[in-house]
Amino acid sequence: MVPQNEADSAAFDSDASNAADPVVGSVVADDSASLQESVTLSPGNQAGVLGCTEAIPVNDPQQVRELSPSILGAYQVSKGHQEFSGCTLDPRPFLGLRFSAVEDENLSADWKWFGGDGMPVSESLIRKLGFDSHQPCDARLRAGDTPMVERWRKIAVDQLASERLIENPSDGATQASSSEALLGQDPETVILWCRWASGTVAFRFDNGASARIPFAGWASDFVSKRQKPDPFRCPETGITGYELVALDSQTVTVSAAVGICQASQIATLISRLETCEISGKRVLPEFLSVCAISGRKAITDLLESCQWCQRQVVPSQISGHRCSDCREGEPIAGNDPLLVALLKKHPEWEKYGNWRGWRDAERAVLVGKSWRGGLAVICDPREQTVLRVAHRGPLRRQWTFDTP
Ligand SMILES: [Zn+2]
Repeated sequence: MVPQNEADSAAFDSDASNAADPVVGSVVADDSASLQESVTLSPGNQAGVLGCTEAIPVNDPQQVRELSPSILGAYQVSKGHQEFSGCTLDPRPFLGLRFSAVEDENLSADWKWFGGDGMPVSESLIRKLGFDSHQPCDARLRAGDTPMVERWRKIAVDQLASERLIENPSDGATQASSSEALLGQDPETVILWCRWASGTVAFRFDNGASARIPFAGWASDFVSKRQKPDPFRCPETGITGYELVALDSQTVTVSAAVGICQASQIATLISRLETCEISGKRVLPEFLSVCAISGRKAITDLLESCQWCQRQVVPSQISGHRCSDCREGEPIAGNDPLLVALLKKHPEWEKYGNWRGWRDAERAVLVGKSWRGGLAVICDPREQTVLRVAHRGPLRRQWTFDTP
């Protein structure tokens, strides 16, 4: 971390804290990056701050519009468009030292680069941001920045001296004496500004829906397409992608998360679709009903209604227009309260016996037999009221409902 006080921080503002981690963002080693052996800086930029030069990598983007193709162009928006909703290119400083004037076989004439913490910058970051191919830029440092740059250079030189002592231990040398010797050689100093891009992409759709996604990374990584902005993440399905769509419900999602309801042809999130257990079709839940007997979910139109109990059930439960419950049923005891209540109201049914049937909370079916035929009573068990009655003759299989 570059030490700084309030007076020193003028040009660095928030950048210095960010520069403490110079490899923020995805670091991709780029061996193809061309390295420029020697950089000549124009004399006009030999600034007043410690005589150091300020520069930018030759290919570092300086304008927001340079990022549009790689960031905005990464997304395809159906029936809408994308735009920047805030995009900044923060210049972040790196320190370069070069001991080109020194005749020291252990100290090469290459630039040595340091991050805001004074630690050496990784070779991969140097290559991909093009540190060694830089050009002078307008001065950003102010006179008040001098003490800070001085301390930064001291930290970097101390770091360099420590490395040299480890690599080339020599009698009597200490880090302090080694640092002093290096500083005495008056290394060429450059403050290199690299642009850190951050902001938000806004997606706006013709139907009024909108969404946003943030991005952050080295500007040159975006422009060179070494780094792609993050894909949009559908908030409901978690599916990610770069092709965005807005549903009629104004939910913004990605095309991979969209399915078509096969009952209504409505486009919706695939997570909202359910499977019809009869047809296998994927449909919205409102088009499904649950079979009262099997519990299977199926498209309502594919269920069949039992002629007796009127419940919707899967076709396999129906035979002779009756569901399996209404056809079979369980034996009903003679003292069953519902049966007793019904016989009290309808003593003419006393002639029937061998009662069987079934019931749930809303309806009950009771079937009695006699030598004259059969009687089926569909009733409301809560109110103990009769809903419908059917008869069958002794030699007939067909049931006939009494007209109400
Ligand atoms: Zn039934």
